[in-house]
Amino acid sequence: MTPDEFRRTGHQLIDWIAGYRERIDQHPVSAQVAPGEVRARLPAAPPEQPEAMAEVMADLDRVIMPGLTHWQSPRFFGYFPANAPLAGVLGDLASTGLGVLGLSWQSGPAITELEEVVTDWVRQMVGLSEGWSGVIQDTASTSTLVALICARERATGYAMARGGLQAEARPLTVYVSAHSHSSVDKAALLAGIGRDRIRLVPFDDAHAMRADALEAMVAEDLSRGFLPCAVVATTGTTATTAVDPVGAVAEVARRHGLWLHLDAAMAGSAMILPECRWMWEGVEGADSLVLNAHKWLGVPFDCSLYYVRDPQHLVRVMSTNPSFLQSAVDGQVKNLRDWGIPLGRRFRALKLWFVLREQGVAALRARLRRDMENARWLAGQVAAAPGWQVLAPVVLQTVCLRHAPAGLEGEALDRHTLRWAEGINRSGAAYLTPAVLDGRWMVRVSVGAEATERAHVAALWEAMRREAEGG
Ligand SMILES: *Cc1c(COP(=O)(O)O)cnc(C)c1O
Repeated sequence: MTPDEFRRTGHQLIDWIAGYRERIDQHPVSAQVAPGEVRARLPAAPPEQPEAMAEVMADLDRVIMPGLTHWQSPRFFGYFPANAPLAGVLGDLASTGLGVLGLSWQSGPAITELEEVVTDWVRQMVGLSEGWSGVIQDTASTSTLVALICARERATGYAMARGGLQAEARPLTVYVSAHSHSSVDKAALLAGIGRDRIRLVPFDDAHAMRADALEAMVAEDLSRGFLPCAVVATTGTTATTAVDPVGAVAEVARRHGLWLHLDAAMAGSAMILPECRWMWEGVEGADSLVLNAHKWLGVPFDCSLYYVRDPQHLVRVMSTNPSFLQSAVDGQVKNLRDWGIPLGRRFRALKLWFVLREQGVAALRARLRRDMENARWLAGQVAAAPGWQVLAPVVLQTVCLRHAPAGLEGEALDRHTLRWAEGINRSGAAYLTPAVLDGRWMVRVSVGAEATERAHVAALWEAMRREAEGG
């Protein structure tokens, strides 16, 4: 493709994206395909000869579009908001168009330096002190894995430089809550902790980790010869957006030398609102934290911000220094390959920079406040309707609810919940994700797509009543 052909097709593609966003409300929100249906419309083997880009574009509509669930739809209330404002789309396109790679500062100085600046902008936006340094990772899963590897190495005095975990006399333990995200469990397993050494700390009625129970578990493990290594607290859990008491957990961590990693992947975005910062009160006592800019804040996936108190420790754990990557300026610059697992890095800072500049922090704050207000409105409607229940405090933008008419209990209630939620998803009117809370199915309504206004939430509430009460 010549630059001129790119210009022509590229304009068409931009038009196609703009049209998609303008008419997104016309699509059924969830994909209406059966397993294997998309694959069946694709050739089994690659084309031997070139095809016209016009045909590729036509297949985008014919083959791909029917197989998509529309995350940017104003009627998307599933999982979590993964906003992709159009300014961010352009930032991502610019990054791909440049085709540059950050292997080291020298391989693209602006890649590193813009990343330093924009991660520091976000640090200021969420009210963290200057004691934090940030880097962009792909996902929170990676950020948390990096955190637990760093925790392991601090606890063992850099065992990796000797016999590794395999040579350690005392088994390491890691503390999480049953409401921690599955990525936390996975990170602990991949960091070599082992299922038997991952401790589930009990939680309270609001599904928040109990610091007193953490203290007791750590003391018990110490008395049995274990080496308590790390605790992962969450600000904004996945099921209910519960907030663990960061300050009290940090106090236990400090007393026993545990690494405290804070998973604020979802709720971190809300920390741009001063009125929400109570949720991670005590955050300055953590060693590391993750905040997904690619969720509610609205940087197109992927853009996970990882902040640490001690970058020197991070670099010591993550650094390898092959000769072909060494340069004369290494003493004066950051080489971000030493701040995470991959060597190569995309120019992700560009889309974050585009979004922050095009929107401005004030507009971001206004959008998040709108979403929280919409969630509170919905919770009010649900709480006031006979037979309906709000199951967890609505601290952010997620409402956990159930339709539990008198006489419906146990597995029959579960079947009812799944039936009406499925009915809404199948109809394409909205997209919801059911989840299990305290052993029973419920429905999570996650408000916060960029395009979602009060009218969409009101229409969802009507659809839920129709589907649950009518059936
Ligand atoms: C979304 C989420 C994650 C996982 O995020 P990825 O970036 O997809 O790995 C982890 N923890 C919490 C609390 C989340 O909300």
